[in-house]
Amino acid sequence: MQHREEGKKLSKYITTPIYYVNGEAHIGHAYTTFIADSKTRYEKLKGEDTYFLTGTDEHGQKIEESAQKSGKPTNQFADEISATFKNLWDEFGICYDKFIRTTDEDHKIGVQKAFETMYAKGDIYKDFYEGNYCVSCETFFPETQLIDGEFCPDCGRSTSIIKEESYFFRLSKYENRLLEHYAANPDFILPRSRANEVINFVKGGLRDLSVTRTSF
Ligand SMILES: [Zn+2]
Repeated sequence: MQHREEGKKLSKYITTPIYYVNGEAHIGHAYTTFIADSKTRYEKLKGEDTYFLTGTDEHGQKIEESAQKSGKPTNQFADEISATFKNLWDEFGICYDKFIRTTDEDHKIGVQKAFETMYAKGDIYKDFYEGNYCVSCETFFPETQLIDGEFCPDCGRSTSIIKEESYFFRLSKYENRLLEHYAANPDFILPRSRANEVINFVKGGLRDLSVTRTSF
């Protein structure tokens, strides 16, 4: 593992997805991590001060379910699976600067601080989330995923419309700002062949995003 020089200005930030620990690492995780590792080494060779993050996301109902199936307490299950990821990357000599776990105390503090800052600025607000909910799977599904407009795509049971309180991120506010940024910085979305796809998605309208969960 390489370490950054203290005090030098950070110029590149590279991250893998923060992997979900409901199952052990597989070839797909390795593929993504090797690409991020190669890119980090390349940037460092060029003299760029690069920070490389990877880690594990340890919150969510699917993890709780997997833990129950394995007969282990949830935190022990998460510890064990997270360790299999970290050990694997160490075995391959992956040059990450930090392996983050979403159960880490400093991560929790960071999230709370970011949340409070955005809330104070009005970028996060409280409202109601409404959607098609499968009681059996305890999951909301977008209407486009429902079978025949009603049935759960996972278990086939009938879904019902449920409303619950949630905090939302005001994503819609950033629609025009993003489009202006893409126009002014043609290399912001790479490869360029994918730029139109992203731009058209944003032009199609950004909806505010539910960022908290109450019942799922
Ligand atoms: Zn279901």
